[in-house]
Amino acid sequence: MNSGISEREKLKEIEEFATSKVRARASEVDETSTFPVDLIKEMSELGVFSIYIPKEYGGLGLSLRTLMETIRIISRECASTSLIPDVTVSLFGEPILKYGTESLKQKYLSRIAKGTIGALAITEPGAGSDAAAIKTTAVKKGEGYVVNGAKTFITNGGEAEFFLASAVTAPEKKHHGITLFAIDREMSGLSIGKEFKKMGIRGTSTTEVLIDSVEVGEEQIVGKFNEGFRIEMDTLNVGRIGIASQAIGIAEGAVRDVIKFNEQFKGSNREGMAFKLADMINLLHSSVAKYNESIEIAEARRDPTLLSSLAKLQAGDAAVKITADAVELLGYRAMTSEYPTERRFREAKITQIYEGTNEIQRVIIAREILKMGGPSF
Ligand SMILES: Cc1cc2nc3c(=O)[nH]c(=O)nc-3n(C[C@H](O)[C@H](O)[C@H](O)COP(=O)(O)OP(=O)(O)OC[C@H]3O[C@@H](n4cnc5c(N)ncnc54)[C@H](O)[C@@H]3O)c2cc1C
Repeated sequence: MNSGISEREKLKEIEEFATSKVRARASEVDETSTFPVDLIKEMSELGVFSIYIPKEYGGLGLSLRTLMETIRIISRECASTSLIPDVTVSLFGEPILKYGTESLKQKYLSRIAKGTIGALAITEPGAGSDAAAIKTTAVKKGEGYVVNGAKTFITNGGEAEFFLASAVTAPEKKHHGITLFAIDREMSGLSIGKEFKKMGIRGTSTTEVLIDSVEVGEEQIVGKFNEGFRIEMDTLNVGRIGIASQAIGIAEGAVRDVIKFNEQFKGSNREGMAFKLADMINLLHSSVAKYNESIEIAEARRDPTLLSSLAKLQAGDAAVKITADAVELLGYRAMTSEYPTERRFREAKITQIYEGTNEIQRVIIAREILKMGGPSF
């Protein structure tokens, strides 16, 4: 702990904000697919964007755990509102912090700390799970590069002021020939294409990002030239803990609905409710245990690949099951938008898809275990 405010105090403030302001706006944000500008402003004032940013770049310098717990607390109320800072900090800020030059850190981290939004742009049509199959290219021109390509399904695309985009720089080297570039929204040739309508997390924008002969200086390369793929994978290792925290928050919200509304509507099947509730808690407990372990490993700077995949797989699958069961337990009520449960059911699904689908997590887990010669826990 190296900040003026303790982590516990900060989380308490965030919980108060989440259970009042975020809760009050969550349904409307979802129903109207509105980016919650007011909540983002309040979150930046509260320090949600600056929690994990070191003090020398204007942040609070708190721990990864505090960031993850923040995402979890806000996700209990609204998974759209939690995703916007999560993507900005975990997927744009974290690789800049870990791999960026001092001038990139000065340029971007101080702006993130003030609530400026960022995005990670890897996915392309035909390059989702296989992130090495991208077609975007960066070709040397003078002192810099010309980047050309089209990214798709990019979270925060509508609002981000800067994008971390992957581009092929040595096609013959396959995934060893990809480089990451920090591209500013204002750079000539960058534009935002189609915005997608989604089943959940509707308060976030998910868009195409079109990169048409964008000229970037060499200083915009994040990490080493041709090492972009490794940095992407390393970034997703931490990012997946954020998705586990989001999934856990959504599931906790659903459990809370069951307890609250089952009290309210006496006469429902009490025994059936008890069994389902016990199963929900069992799944939730396993999710939290893996999530906690993955944070410990990441904070100890050990390789979190296995645990972050286990945490995301477990928490994502559990969130989908728990929210579906919660809908069932609440009966016809949960089919209406008068209760938050149907929104949570729609929000949960995405946690199985982005930052590597849960099938891809299974591929990673099996690969890691085979590499280790068997489980060692
Ligand atoms: C709402 C939303 C937000 C997103 N935000 C971002 C973002 O901010 N930045 C970004 O870069 N991307 C983003 N994405 C893209 C996301 O990361 C991809 O959707 C995801 O990686 C899967 O890729 P795909 O959709 O192309 O599916 P595919 O790769 O086409 O996969 C289709 C199916 O095949 C399965 N599959 C594929 N390969 C294998 C394999 N080897 N073994 C077993 N099964 C396999 C998958 O699990 C899946 O079920 C977002 C997507 C969504 C829906």
